[in-house]
Amino acid sequence: MNNKRVVIIGAGPAGLTAAYELLKKTNIKPIIYEMSENIGGLSQTINYKGNRIDIGGHRFFSKSDKVLDFWKKFLILESEQDNKKSLYNKDNILLIRNRLSRIFFLRKFFNYPITLNLSTLKNLGFLRVTKIGLSYLKVKFLPIKSEKTLQDFFVNRFGNELYETFFKDYTYKVWGVPCNRIDASWGAQRIRGLSISKAIAHAIKSVFVKNKDIKQKNIETTLIEKFMYPKFGPGQMWENVAYKIRDLGGRIYLNHEVIGLKNSLNNITSVKIKNKNLDQVFDIESDYVISSMPIKDLIAAFNKNIDQNVKKIATGLEYRDFMTVGLLLNKLKIKTKENKIIPDNWIYIQERDVKVGRLQIFNNWSPYLVKDQDKIWLGLEYFCNQGDDLWSMQNQDFINFAISELCKIGFIEKEDVIDSVVIRMPKTYPAYFGTYNNFDVIKNFLDKIENLFLIGRNGMHRYNNMDHSMLSAMQAVGNIINGIKTKDNIWAVNTEKEYHETK
Ligand SMILES: Cc1cc2nc3c(=O)[nH]c(=O)nc-3n(C[C@H](O)[C@H](O)[C@H](O)COP(=O)(O)OP(=O)(O)OC[C@H]3O[C@@H](n4cnc5c(N)ncnc54)[C@H](O)[C@@H]3O)c2cc1C
Repeated sequence: MNNKRVVIIGAGPAGLTAAYELLKKTNIKPIIYEMSENIGGLSQTINYKGNRIDIGGHRFFSKSDKVLDFWKKFLILESEQDNKKSLYNKDNILLIRNRLSRIFFLRKFFNYPITLNLSTLKNLGFLRVTKIGLSYLKVKFLPIKSEKTLQDFFVNRFGNELYETFFKDYTYKVWGVPCNRIDASWGAQRIRGLSISKAIAHAIKSVFVKNKDIKQKNIETTLIEKFMYPKFGPGQMWENVAYKIRDLGGRIYLNHEVIGLKNSLNNITSVKIKNKNLDQVFDIESDYVISSMPIKDLIAAFNKNIDQNVKKIATGLEYRDFMTVGLLLNKLKIKTKENKIIPDNWIYIQERDVKVGRLQIFNNWSPYLVKDQDKIWLGLEYFCNQGDDLWSMQNQDFINFAISELCKIGFIEKEDVIDSVVIRMPKTYPAYFGTYNNFDVIKNFLDKIENLFLIGRNGMHRYNNMDHSMLSAMQAVGNIINGIKTKDNIWAVNTEKEYHETK
């Protein structure tokens, strides 16, 4: 066992956790191949001239003690830092942050999750609230009989007016697919991903149903909850893990892309790697392969003739991609009553006349993400598809477009922009449409390959947060150590109903 070779694909949270677990629990010295030049995958932090960008805004929280203990090995919790004062400890800390995120819609702020109070009703307006109520009542008496699409699903549960107001456009913004092209079953299984709409719908629906269940007394704690956050962004955590992996004898090769897999009937025998630095390709034999690369690419990498159906379904798997514009500003136009920076970590931009989906205020995640504390450091997030109009725009054009959108909704003045950068991240969201309905065919095929372990977010084509990605890695390593043949316990991670990323 101890002289076996383990190849790990990807240096994101899943791959790094797998490597660390192997190093701690066995004598195996794993090798990680990472196609990009960065550590941390989607959870990396990009340093732009001393200002740091967190792609997506990564809250560190988990229900799992294993995950919390893991994190605390690499960064010291702020509250436990006092008695360990060294320079290392001063920087390697997990801050404890208050969370506030709101919805910006109709040029107004709505609490998130929505609270059904006077301000919400006032923001929506009497006419809109009445229409929502009437259309909700209508659908209660005259529901769509056969629910085929996600649109039917929403309308049946919330009425057409509420669907039109909150669901239709935002779903399109996030996914790039209209609700009437998404299967209704997706709503039942995956509604938790559409959190803004869900929160608003929940609050408004409760006006019309007798058994109101809005726990007003809990609202404050829900709105302003706490989470952990590395002083210099999520990448700091994963850089520290990578450092330790190398220290313990593991190897991490950046700019090394896995492009091929050789398999016998039930095993991978070798992995083909492209060293992008030298533009060279080589094969490496492996006893075990742990993969966090996207399943679509993994299947394409198999060199043996594999089942055409598996290939076809994998080719049809879809993803949503992501672009962030980092904007450095002298000030925001929009301010608190006390003339201070608005307190949100991030804001959901539900406005229809702009394409921006979310706005991060990095100062409020960690002041240490911003080089000059007097400046404002924003992240404007766009959901898109690789190759579409947004993705293909020239960087400067895209920056101008993003600035004009923020000016339009009244957040900034153009003259206050000091600097800017564009970041493109492919495959940020594995989609639950395309050929996903037939995903089990791929899963069954891959599960039969005994020495292959799928972990992580795109590695399992699932909305895994960091903690889920880590737990799947821990489970995979446990299976390797204990010779457990089934992969069911890895697939069982993150099957609970609660979904954290958008809550
Ligand atoms: C907008 C957004 C917000 C999020 N917010 C949160 C949050 O608040 N809290 C939270 O816990 N999680 C959050 N997440 C989820 C978190 O980013 C992921 O769960 C986590 O990064 C997944 O880790 P991973 O290792 O599975 O995958 P990834 O981070 O995707 O890492 C996979 C790695 O594999 C590499 N790779 C791919 N193909 C190959 C190949 N062929 N060869 C070699 N290497 C390859 C990639 O370059 C990448 O580095 C968020 C995600 C997004 C998109």
